[in-house]
Amino acid sequence: MAADIKLISTDFDGTLVPAFGGPAPFSDELIELLTELRRRGVRWAVNTGRSPGLLKDAWEHCGLNFHPDFALTSERDVYRPCDQRVGEWVDYGDWNQQTLAAHRELFTAAQPLLLEAIEVIKSRSRARILYNFDHVNGPSEPAGLMTKTDVEMDWVVDYIDSLKAQLPKLHYQRNSIYLRFCHVDYDKGTALAELGRLLNIPSESIFAAGDHYNDLPMLDGRAARHVACPANAIPAVKQTVRGAGGHVSAAEDGYGLVDALKRLFA
Ligand SMILES: [Mg+2]
Repeated sequence: MAADIKLISTDFDGTLVPAFGGPAPFSDELIELLTELRRRGVRWAVNTGRSPGLLKDAWEHCGLNFHPDFALTSERDVYRPCDQRVGEWVDYGDWNQQTLAAHRELFTAAQPLLLEAIEVIKSRSRARILYNFDHVNGPSEPAGLMTKTDVEMDWVVDYIDSLKAQLPKLHYQRNSIYLRFCHVDYDKGTALAELGRLLNIPSESIFAAGDHYNDLPMLDGRAARHVACPANAIPAVKQTVRGAGGHVSAAEDGYGLVDALKRLFA
């Protein structure tokens, strides 16, 4: 093994499988490689913006009969496998309670300004606001939004950035035309760092790969010393990966991941 890597963190859409057209099966080579690395004791976490439910849907859609060792979901939560039910996830430690409490506190404090900001966004763009859903009361506080185009989302994030002075803890995770409001302290990078802490694996022994804005926090060299991205990654991701001394593959999605892992695990 060329590098002493004990944990790999991979985004799902656009990194393990193509980002568009719905989840496609993993390549045989990717399945073989992941199986071999895990046989050698390397742990594998899928680090995604999907919720646990949406990750499960994608997994079933792909027809996969194996599961990662950990699931880092919604760009913040840390899960380990459920002992009783294969393919289900349970909280790993108390991190998810911490993130929930921090988000509740933030959204309670930010609600008035956030609702004002949403009115501005609605009046100046064709963005559709997405709401959290409460099974008793129906749609509740705004969770995020989707725009018609990337250009429109560029404007939305610039506008939200302009509110930083008033709402310093309010941040967002962007994935193409989708945006989720979040607390500035929680992202794929901090979720990965927490998993490394729980497993007692330092960042020097962690590898991460992703393709979009929401992957940037785990690709800047802090949470993972070894980083890579596929050819389909956005320019900001390629720049960050290069800046952290990582590998920008010439191959797309899962094939790019195979290329990057083969370089590391010669
Ligand atoms: Mg992605």
